[in-house]
Amino acid sequence: METYRQFINGAFVDSHSAEWIEVENPFTNAIISRVPRGDKEDAYAALEAANKAQTAWAARPAAERAGYLKQMAALIRGNRVALARTLAAEQAKVLPLAQVEIDVTAEYFDYYAGWARIFEGEIIQSDRPNENIFLFRKPIGVVAGICPWNFPFFVMARKVAPALLSGCSIVLKPSSTTPNTTFEFAKMAASLGLPPGVLNFVAGSGRTLGSALVSSPLTDMVTLTGSVEAGQEIIRATADNVTKVSLELGGKAPAIVFADADLDLAVKGVLDSRVIFSGQVCNCAERAYVQAGVYEEFMEKFTQAMKNVRFGDPFADPAPDMSSQIDRSQQEKIDAMVKRALADGAQALTGGKAADTGSGYFYEPTVLVNCRQEMEIVQKEVFGPVIPVLPFTEYEEAIALANDCEYGLTSSVFTNNVNTVMQALRDLKFGETYVNREHFEGMQGFHAGWRKSGIGGADGKHGLMEYMQSQVAYVQF
Ligand code: NAD
Repeated sequence: METYRQFINGAFVDSHSAEWIEVENPFTNAIISRVPRGDKEDAYAALEAANKAQTAWAARPAAERAGYLKQMAALIRGNRVALARTLAAEQAKVLPLAQVEIDVTAEYFDYYAGWARIFEGEIIQSDRPNENIFLFRKPIGVVAGICPWNFPFFVMARKVAPALLSGCSIVLKPSSTTPNTTFEFAKMAASLGLPPGVLNFVAGSGRTLGSALVSSPLTDMVTLTGSVEAGQEIIRATADNVTKVSLELGGKAPAIVFADADLDLAVKGVLDSRVIFSGQVCNCAERAYVQAGVYEEFMEKFTQAMKNVRFGDPFADPAPDMSSQIDRSQQEKIDAMVKRALADGAQALTGGKAADTGSGYFYEPTVLVNCRQEMEIVQKEVFGPVIPVLPFTEYEEAIALANDCEYGLTSSVFTNNVNTVMQALRDLKFGETYVNREHFEGMQGFHAGWRKSGIGGADGKHGLMEYMQSQVAYVQF
């Protein structure tokens, strides 16, 4: 069993706390590693190191900082198979998908390295003669990065890459459920000769180590990817210091299928969006609305497709479509939500219960009909392979149902009518909309939720700007 230590100020060190968190393989239920249950002293030590290192790091040319990112990408590629296996073991992600996450993460470091010579300030026209107004972009300072369990390696890079490229230093806390790939990355990063303190990794619970990180006056920015509840706690915890927050939170993405859509494409798009990583993806279709006229045909094809989903060992070859839920509490949460929906009149066309497989926390791919818009299963994030499907008649009705939600992360439309596409892009109130494809974002876009799905966002130019603040100078000559 692997034992990981905190990575603070360029060295692996013991935690101030003598307690450990055990990490379970969700498929075999074996304990595969342990990480420190770090306390607030660990958080402060990491933040002090990050604070000390940041100014000198920011003074280096961006291209030099980018050099480290390129080396990180190369190290990940050199260890891609081992990292994918570590990822598949810590979270029961099927191996091919785990491999995609590792490979995309290497690309992500390279992508942000490419921004080193591209981001710019501005020279603004002054109202006075002989004056220039300069707008500089400066790193925001010390970043506390807080990660979820569902894409632990990629989300780690989503915070580390723009932070380091912009000249920030960072203290990153992985989820205690899936810390292994992050600490394997820490081992690799330790070999790069980064200035000590620029990059720190600490493990511990959100309530103790996490809240110490986010409420410290040394922290200039908190970037969280996680639940709405954690986001709300962080907004409260950062209020005293008026610390910048960038929050990527939950979703309840609607997929709207219009009668003129390519139905096979729509079935595949919604299916892929619902069963990838056992439904544990923030941006994926959590509810579907299908237009009368094609509703019966869609339901027949979609229900059959959900029945055909194979689940099992994430390491099996050929790989199943999905594997276990992350842990027992998630499995129980999903089951409780489905049970409440069934008790409230919903009907399961397939699935509707946990799968009894001997090991792992499996939930059967589930299609629910006879749901009403106000039901919990239509309004709240399930984070499992469960989807309620509701019929609609008119365009306006579909848009109103889709927008009727406290979340605003992603949405999708399936139609072959370009006018419907453009109208939907005008009318949908979500940070992302996918047209005739599954829900999944690209690194050059901007992943940012509306309403309770978040504040700010990640990826691309705008994601990099999250880690920068402006400084405006009025210069007379
Ligand atoms: P979570 O909110 O339970 O935990 C996320 C992280 O926050 C963990 O590291 C946790 O320890 C930490 N944390 C919790 N409370 C904290 C506090 N008060 N102070 C500081 N840190 C705290 O989320 P999870 O269960 O790990 O992940 C699933 C959730 O993440 C889902 O809601 C999903 O939609 C969301 N998510 C969103 C995106 C996105 O890009 N919008 C991506 C992935 C996951």
